Amino acid sequence: MSVRELVVLGTASQVPTRHRNHNGYLLRWDGEGILFDPGEGTQRQMLRAGVAAHDLNRICVTHFHGDHSLGLAGVIQRINLDKVPHPLTAHYPLSGQRFFDRLRYATAYRETVDIAEAPISADGVIADTGGYALHTARLSHPVESYGYRLVEPDGIRMLPDRLAAHGIKGPDVGRLQREGVLRGVSLDDVSEVRRGQRFAFVMDTRLCDGVYTLADGCEMLVIESTFLDEDVELAEEHGHLTAGQAARVAVDCGVRHLVLTHFSQRYTEPDEFERQAREAGFDGELTVAHDLLRVPLPKRR
Ligand SMILES: [Zn+2]
Repeated sequence: MSVRELVVLGTASQVPTRHRNHNGYLLRWDGEGILFDPGEGTQRQMLRAGVAAHDLNRICVTHFHGDHSLGLAGVIQRINLDKVPHPLTAHYPLSGQRFFDRLRYATAYRETVDIAEAPISADGVIADTGGYALHTARLSHPVESYGYRLVEPDGIRMLPDRLAAHGIKGPDVGRLQREGVLRGVSLDDVSEVRRGQRFAFVMDTRLCDGVYTLADGCEMLVIESTFLDEDVELAEEHGHLTAGQAARVAVDCGVRHLVLTHFSQRYTEPDEFERQAREAGFDGELTVAHDLLRVPLPKRR
């Protein structure tokens, strides 16, 4: 069975708290595991969340601030220690190549795994597996930052009542799917488009075009809301979002499940993020993330 879920490894921003580790998120997408922004302590959070190094196929780093990347050193060494048998790919801003190099080779270890480096320097599609296309868009932060968006290609859904009306059943259904037309009945007559699912990961940024490009029409949007709305000036100054800003993006983009995370240590009351997101008009599924939470992607409509 295909599993699509977000495993939250950490939810703190610059400073961890007693209850929040630095950032870290695993997206399970069918058979693949994509690790986003591994902050310090990600290796241990993976253990606590039941995620093995073998589960990883791809690592995506938005930018080279420590809370989004210091965990690379440990995770990469663990991948090699465990001799993960499949190749991995790492994406990160090309402008931070020197940081990636240092983190990848932070200390001595035995390199056993092929990790392909696929740095980003422009918006667009950076990978296409057939199961999904991975897009990036530039964000607005004091250091170069890119968000990520996964798009599953549209498929088709056969409509049983239309098939029955045309007397098509059994092996003829497969033949129609392969050949596109059968006894004068076309595939379009008996099927509808099944829209592919979309997931976006937006972190760290002010409001900018890239935020909307990434979030557009997503089943799930994981987005930073470092600040509460009363601290919007701080958010703007440091290149971050507030809970209300993040929620309005979700409203404008038709997001079904909004996941807020990357909280400043100055706040101790997670309910306030939820309250402000609702006040901003978001009425879909809403999760104020906490460490080790698992959030399934919404079911297809
Ligand atoms: Zn951050």
